[in-house]
Amino acid sequence: MKCPYCDNEMEQGLLQGMRRIAWVKQQHKISLLPKQGEILLENNTFSDFVFPAQICKSCKKIIIDYSDKEIQEG
Ligand SMILES: [Zn+2]
Repeated sequence: MKCPYCDNEMEQGLLQGMRRIAWVKQQHKISLLPKQGEILLENNTFSDFVFPAQICKSCKKIIIDYSDKEIQEG
């Protein structure tokens, strides 16, 4: 996959971390319960999250695909 920012070839890997991850409109102070229009991407409070992800090390962008995830939308 070509980087949509700089057109370099991107490298396939995984984005891995712990606990919850969400796309939010504004930073939440406490929980990550999704509000209107927001998306909770992972809800494993006690284990890792992992997403297939393409990385561009040239312009330092990571693109993740959450199409196969069971997501919670606000
Ligand atoms: Zn790039």
